[in-house]
Parts: sequence; structure tokens; C-alpha cells
Amino acid sequence: MTTDVDAVQKHVLAEILGRNAKSEYLTEKCGLADATDRATFRAKVPMVTYEDLQPYTSAALPTATVRPSSPGPRTPCRSSSPAPACRAANRITLLMHAMHVPGIDKGKSMYFLFVSSQTKTPGGLTAGTVMTSYYKSRQYKKHAYPENNSSPTAAILCEDASQSMYAQMLCGLCERADVMPVGAVFAVVLVRAIRFLQDNWEQLAADIEAGELISPGTVTDLAVREAVAGVLRRPNPELARFIRAECSRGDWAGLIPRIWPKTKYLGTIVTGSMAQYMPTLDYYSGGLPIASDIFGASEGDFGLNFSPLCDPSEASYTIMPNMAYFEFLPVVDGDGDGDASRHDDLVELAKVEAGREYELVVTTYAGLNRYRLGDVLRVTGFHNAAPTVQFVRRKNTLLSIDVEKTDETELQAAVGRTSSLLRAHGAAVMEYTSQACTKNIAGHYIIYWELRTDKQGAAVNGDVLDGCCLEMEEALSTVYRQKRVEEGSIAPLEIRVVRSGTFDALLDYAISRGTSIAQYKVPRCVTKSPAIDHRPPGFAHHLDSRQPNLATLGTGSTIQQLERWTADV
Ligand code: AMP
Repeated sequence: MTTDVDAVQKHVLAEILGRNAKSEYLTEKCGLADATDRATFRAKVPMVTYEDLQPYTSAALPTATVRPSSPGPRTPCRSSSPAPACRAANRITLLMHAMHVPGIDKGKSMYFLFVSSQTKTPGGLTAGTVMTSYYKSRQYKKHAYPENNSSPTAAILCEDASQSMYAQMLCGLCERADVMPVGAVFAVVLVRAIRFLQDNWEQLAADIEAGELISPGTVTDLAVREAVAGVLRRPNPELARFIRAECSRGDWAGLIPRIWPKTKYLGTIVTGSMAQYMPTLDYYSGGLPIASDIFGASEGDFGLNFSPLCDPSEASYTIMPNMAYFEFLPVVDGDGDGDASRHDDLVELAKVEAGREYELVVTTYAGLNRYRLGDVLRVTGFHNAAPTVQFVRRKNTLLSIDVEKTDETELQAAVGRTSSLLRAHGAAVMEYTSQACTKNIAGHYIIYWELRTDKQGAAVNGDVLDGCCLEMEEALSTVYRQKRVEEGSIAPLEIRVVRSGTFDALLDYAISRGTSIAQYKVPRCVTKSPAIDHRPPGFAHHLDSRQPNLATLGTGSTIQQLERWTADV
């Protein structure tokens, strides 16, 4: 399949267009008239964004004109097709793991998996996140993946995330001697699971000691209680003692292999915006390998990492040509936001060039046609003839005060670099978000940090935070520093330390609004002064006297960039 990529893609496109030929979108909007060839598709079907499709996903759907396949939104996704695709991709990743970690299929997995509620579109179709569609599907019931997971299906299907987490953690603890891979789809969920254990070990140990769910209010859902009872079975004071001994130490380093001694690797996505969880996962796992094996979305699964145990910073995903019809919009001058009239620039899967960055545009079996996913990818090479890609960033710029643009990757790198200053003080950044504050002229960046302190008496005082502000500014782009230092159009960056648990509260709030815990991503930028409870003003630190260093501006390309920039302005 990866050798004759173009033939597979031609076939996939014909199949998708054939299946969806009668859809209102392809017949009336595009005038495709049953054509399934590439040339007609390219000539008639426009490249679209989520906003372009909104009329089809809301107002138009209640009418009888809805056909089996019409375009679907980014989230929630059309639920008709993802389940089999998910299952296929999951099976392949399982096989890859078995190839790289012999014996892994013999033990238990402990994957924390969650669903969220589904809704009906005005046209009566069920809509929800892809994971929810998958776990609720008949395919999952018949062939649950991962096989042999310590989490009972009833716990996974419980829409109350806290009950679900409690039950999954309890069962995972009971199976501790057999657990091999430990994981969750995205790293943020795995970190949250371990933090849940830190916060709830006393109740969990009490239930294990009693051999039944005695801790009040933890699990009330009857189906989940029944499933947990099937795992708890009888009092286990020895296991309860062990958990108390490990968790009461207050030392969380290497917690995962201490509790689950056969853990071979963590299975979770740690690329893209999830990369910032790597240090925390390394801390909890004592440096176990992390398999970041799939690149996908609610719209479909697209790429697989054929070397799942490689260093996650080098993880490349092979685009699987049978998963969808893929086109690539070249990123021009570092800007992925090219306009829709550029659809002539779209490059087919077989024609992408190594080293270049593209925005991914997909046509899926579920009925999205030339849909801009918003992900920018860099082609790193080829597996046979299929391109391998690294995730670069989500397209949109995160922060901008003047004409500088700071994206998620730059911000994350700056937080990572600055966070290392905290290590000497026994602390690390657990979570962060940011805000471009333009209340005053000049505006400035506010970075909200939730800190983890590893040592008792760890001190992160004002001086340390001032140093962090400076370090962070030095890590930002040359254009940022030029605006900040030479033109003064950006005021000093400010770091605000928020109370412990603030980001969990944000997640709880998102869940209460219908977000699935399994697909939740911490917003890396907030536009309004956030519902973030930060410490009193004395704890907010400005960089006021010192300025970031401009000396590093002097490379050829940056100077050219600055000159072009200044001309534009
Ligand atoms: P969702 O549709 O909510 O599940 O989110 C899908 C998005 O998550 C993708 O469009 C990417 O932005 C991101 N994503 C998924 N897989 C990966 C990965 N392996 N590395 C980095 N980002 C990813």
C-alpha cells in the first residue's frame, strides 16, 4: 500500500466520490454530476474550512435533502465512519507494539479511555467525538481495543469523567502485577490520571482494603459499580498497604513503574501541543519510552508511526494512503493561513517534497471534501513511497501584540527553556496558558503558570520569576524582541502563577460544557481575562528594568526577515 501511493489515492478518491455522489453538497454545491475522476474533482470542488461548512451542519440538515454523506464539522464529527477506521488503525498500532516489545500482548494494558455525551444534529444524526463513537460502537463491543485492558467497558462508557476515572484507576491498581503498557490517547489525560491517583489514593486504598466500593460518592453509577465489583472481588489489605506506603511518601518520581512494575512503555500522543507533558511523564515514569504512534483527528486517522519507541521528538507519522484522499497546501513564508483561492496550489500525496511544510487538506469517506484540517506538517521523508511527516503546529497564531506572530510551538519552546530555570529551585511548570493583553498601549504577553514543587520548602520567589520573564522573552522570536526592545511597542512580559488545581478546574469546566476528557486540550491562549484564579497581585511579576538581549538577532536570515518585515510595516 505504501509503494504505489498514487494508485491507491486515485482509487480512494473514486471510491469516496462514488459513495457520496448523491450528496447535496457534491451534486448541488459542486455540480460534480457523478464524476469520480481527479481532474473533475480538482476543477469543481473547492477547498473549504469549518466555517464554510457550517450552513450544511446546522441550518440545512433538518430538511429532507440530507443525504447519507454530506460534509461534517470538525468537532463533533460525523459519526458514521470513524469507528471501523479507528479500529483498523488501533489494530495496526497494537501489532506494531507487539513487534517492538515482545511479550507485550501477554499482559494487561492500562489505557485510560473516556467518552462524552453525544447529541443529535438538527437533521437527526448522532454527533459526538470520534472516541465516543468508537467506544460506543458495535465494533468496539465485539473487538475491544486495547484488548485485555484493565478498564471495564462500563467504566469507559460512563459519561461522568470523575466516576469513570475513579473506577478505571481502581481496576488498574487491582491489576498492577500484570499491567504492561500504560496509556491514554493524549498525554494530558495520562498526566491527569496520575494526578488523580496522587489526590485520591487514600479512598482507593480504603476500597481495596474493604474489597468493595465503600468510599462515599466516588462511584454511584450502578453499571460501573457492578463492573468494579467484578474486579475487586475480595478484601486485599496487602495491596492497600502497598498503595499507602508508596503514596504517603509524597515522592512522585518514578511512580508509574513503582506501582505497575511491569510497565514497558507509555502509550500516548506526546507530539505537537502534547510535547510539553513529556517532562512530567518522564518524571512519573522514571524515563520509560513513550510510544506516540498515531496522528489522527475526529475527521479520521491519517498517519502511523512505524518506529513507535523512537525518541518522541523524532516521531514521524507515515501518511496511510488508504485512510482518506490527501492534499497538501504549501506553507508560504512560514504562514499556513493561505487563502482559499490557492486551491490550485494543492499538492497530491505522491508529489510532496521532503523538507517542506504543508497544511493538510483531507477528503474523507465520511463526507468532508477538500477540508482544511488546520494542521501544519513537515515532510521528513518517505516510507517506501508514502510520505512521513512531523506535526509542526496548528495553523493559527497564538499571540500577537504588534506585527509579531507567536505560535504554539514558539511559546512552548519558550516555556520549556524558562521552566528549566525553575529546576534549581525544586519546581517545574505543570501547565500554562497565555493571553495577549492589549488593555494598555503598549500591550504585553501574560503567561499563566501552574507550578509543581518537587521538594518540600521549594522557593520560587519574585527574583526567580523575574529571571523567568527575561529568559522567556529571550526565547521568543527575533521580531518579538525587536518590537520589545527597539520599538517599545510590546511591553514587558508578565508571568502569573496560579493556584494549584486551576487547570484541573478549567478541564472540569470544559467537561461540564460537553467536552470529552479524552480529547480535551488545554487552551494555550485565552482571549478574555481567564476564569483563572491567580494569586494576589504581589505574586504577579513584571519584567520592568531589564530587556531581552538583541545580540542574537544578527544571523543573516533574521536580518533579512527583519528588513522585509520593516518594509511591510
Ligand atoms: P480532535 O479532532 O479533537 O481529536 O483533535 C485532532 C487534532 O489533534 C489534530 O488535528 C491535531 O492538531 C492534534 N493531533 C492529533 N494527533 C496528533 C499527533 N500525533 N501529534 C500532534 N498533534 C496531534
